[in-house]
Amino acid sequence: MLIGVPKEIKNHEYRVGLIPSGVRELVKAGHHVFVQTKAGLDIGITDAEYIESGAQILGNEAEIFEKAELIIKVKEPQPEEIKLIKPHHTLFTYLHLAADEQQTKALINSQSICIAYETVTDEQHMLPLLSPMSEIAGRMAIQAGATTLHKANGGSGVLLSGVPGVGAGNVVIIGGGSVGSNAARMAVGMGANVTLFDKNIAVLRRLDNEYQGRIDLVFATEQSISNALQSADLVIGAVLVPGGAAPKVVTKEMLKVMKPGSVMVDVAIDQGGCFETSKATTHDNPTYQVEGIVHYCVGNMPSAVARTAAFALCNATLPYIHKLAKLGTLEAIKVNKGLQDGVNIFRGKVTHEGVSATFNLPY
Ligand code: NAD
Repeated sequence: MLIGVPKEIKNHEYRVGLIPSGVRELVKAGHHVFVQTKAGLDIGITDAEYIESGAQILGNEAEIFEKAELIIKVKEPQPEEIKLIKPHHTLFTYLHLAADEQQTKALINSQSICIAYETVTDEQHMLPLLSPMSEIAGRMAIQAGATTLHKANGGSGVLLSGVPGVGAGNVVIIGGGSVGSNAARMAVGMGANVTLFDKNIAVLRRLDNEYQGRIDLVFATEQSISNALQSADLVIGAVLVPGGAAPKVVTKEMLKVMKPGSVMVDVAIDQGGCFETSKATTHDNPTYQVEGIVHYCVGNMPSAVARTAAFALCNATLPYIHKLAKLGTLEAIKVNKGLQDGVNIFRGKVTHEGVSATFNLPY
C-alpha cells in the first residue's frame, strides 16, 4: 500500500499522523510511506528520523496526495486539502462531520472513502481512536479551566485547590466517559470538590467504585445540572452521542444562575458543543464571555501537547493502519466491524447514521 502523511495545516495543529516508529513497522510489513517534509518538526521529529525509519520525504502536500492511496492525517482536511482528495483515496483521520456540513458535502463530492477515527469501535463497543485524545483533552480541561479562572484571564479568581482556611473550588463535569473521567482524575488530584453527571448509570457506578465517595456522582437531568451550576466555579462539558451532534446540556438561560467569572470548558465543541452558548475557539484566542461566564471552546485541545498526543494517537491507530494497508480498504472494512463503523463517507454517500441524521442526508 502507498501511504501518505501530509503536514497538518489547521491553526496551531502540531501533531502528525504517523511517528517514525509507526513508519518503521509499516515499511517492514512491505508498505511504502511518503511523509511531507517537516511534518513532524514542530514536535521535534526531523525528516532524517523519518528517512532512517524507511519513509520517503516529499516536498509538499500535493505530491503526498498524488502519490499515496491511503492518507493518514490528524485533523479534518482543510479546504485546500479537500481539493486534493480523489476517488481512489482512503482518508483516515479525525473528521467530526456532524459539526461541519460544508466539509461533509465536500467529502461526499470527492467520491473518496473517509474513515473517521472518532467512530471506529473495538470489541467492547468503545471508541479506541477517540479515547487517547479524550484522555489528553480531559486532563487538559482542568488545567485550561484552572488557568482561565485567573483574574487576568477574565475568571473569578478562584484557586481550585483552595488553601488552609479557604475552601476548594467546585468543579462540575457533565459526561463521565473518557474525557469526563480523566477530568475528574485531575480535579481530584488538585483537591477540588467534584460533581460528575452522566445519563448512564453504569458509568456512574464504575466511577463510584473507583472514587469511593471522593466525588459526587449524579444522574444528569436539566434540574440536577442547573442546581449544581449555582455553586460551580468550573464546568466541563464532556458528553458524546457517537457520530452525532452533541446534546445541549446547559442552555443560555441556565447560565443566569451561575457566579460571574465562572468558567465553562466545552470539550465536546468538536461535535458542535454541549452548551447552547458555545462557539468554537482556537488556541490563539481560546475564550470569550457570555452572561459574565468565561467560555473556553478549543476544538483541538490535544495539539497544545502535540508531542504526547502524536505518540498516543499513533499507538492507537497503527493496528488499524496495518489492517487497511495489508488487506486494502474494501476488504479491511468488510472483515473488520470496528473499521466499518469508522466509515463516515463511502464514495459519494454518507454511511454514518449520526452524520446523516444531523444534516438530513440520505444514508
Ligand atoms: P465518551 O463516549 O467516552 O463519553 C461520553 C459520555 O457522555 C458517556 O458516558 C455518555 O453516557 C455521556 N452522555 C451522553 N449524553 C449525555 C447527556 N445528555 N447528559 C449526560 N451525559 C451524557 O466520549 P469522550 O471520549 O469522553 O468524548 C467526549 C467529547 O469530547 C466528544 O465530543 C469528543 O469528540 C470530544 N473531544 C474533544 C477534544 C477537543 O480537543 N476539544 C478532544 C478529545 C475529545
